[in-house]
Amino acid sequence: MDLELVSEVLANEPSYRRTQVWEWAARGVGSYAEMTNLPVRARALLEERAPFSTLVPEHEAHAADGTVKVLFRTLDGHPVEAVLMRYRDGRRSVCLSSQSGCPLTCTFCATGAMRFRRNLTAWEMVDQALHFRRLEPIDHSVFMGMGEPMLNLEAVLTAARRLPDLGVTHRRTTISTVGWLPGLTRFVDEVAEPIRLALSLHAPADALRSELMPVNDRFPLDEVLAECRRYVELRGRKVFVEYVMLAGVNDSPEHAAQLAALLDRRSFKVNLIPYNPTGAYDGSGRESIAAFKAVLDEARLPATVRLTRGRDIAAACGQLAATA
Ligand code: SAH
Repeated sequence: MDLELVSEVLANEPSYRRTQVWEWAARGVGSYAEMTNLPVRARALLEERAPFSTLVPEHEAHAADGTVKVLFRTLDGHPVEAVLMRYRDGRRSVCLSSQSGCPLTCTFCATGAMRFRRNLTAWEMVDQALHFRRLEPIDHSVFMGMGEPMLNLEAVLTAARRLPDLGVTHRRTTISTVGWLPGLTRFVDEVAEPIRLALSLHAPADALRSELMPVNDRFPLDEVLAECRRYVELRGRKVFVEYVMLAGVNDSPEHAAQLAALLDRRSFKVNLIPYNPTGAYDGSGRESIAAFKAVLDEARLPATVRLTRGRDIAAACGQLAATA
């Protein structure tokens, strides 16, 4: 729902009408017709001039573990994927895309291999969450779908700031980045809300990181980590570090020791991500992941192994890539 368009369409109505529309939408209604406290003429105008969603669902896949992946099209035809993850403890987390495709070319990521289309608008991000909100209540969100949020920060923040109305507090919203410094610096300086920050690290040193993530040539590790530490200092919250486990590439005990030396435990919490096959690499086995984690545990660097959700429908981390 493009709220700016809604405002234009309702320009001749009192301004609280716009608020009413948003409140209904955020609570998960599926049409203007259900917004019963709006005058019939306002509803009719909206029906005619403001599409209820900025995204059209095109395909939906359901995994055995309850994960749902939806492929949408923007109104100008670009593909966008989003995922609803359901956990046994009742958590309902939505994984949102910030761009259609991604201009970065991380070698292990399926989105990186598809053509970059464009930045999404804030409303196109909100509409991904609203789609799932119409299915059931949601309480967590991660900007870990397609795209690099820090390349589209303004719109990402506008969207993130709407999510509490859908039931997702700022503390339960995480924005993930490769460490795109201009955006990251702005995020650290300007975002006073307790929105969480995650850094996709994937290697404990520059040479290997540049191989996996060409963006590292532009923004080297020490500068990115310094910015993360500034976030910790300024905001008083740890940064999550994402580390995807690639067999024989970045998963040896030596890599783990280097990682433990690189990251101080007061500032960082590591999330080891089992690799979801997209062609280029083999994922580390369970034993190598456990051995890697043992080194971090020994160094008392907090670390967890991420639960994989939605693998059987290619909805897991890094698998979002519409072929069309
Ligand atoms: N561009 C941002 C947001 C995308 S988040 C970022 O990179 O942080 C998507 C996460 O999934 C990133 O940590 C990414 O590195 C990870 N990922 C990408 N491909 C993956 C794969 N095939 N298996 C597991 N994780 C993957």
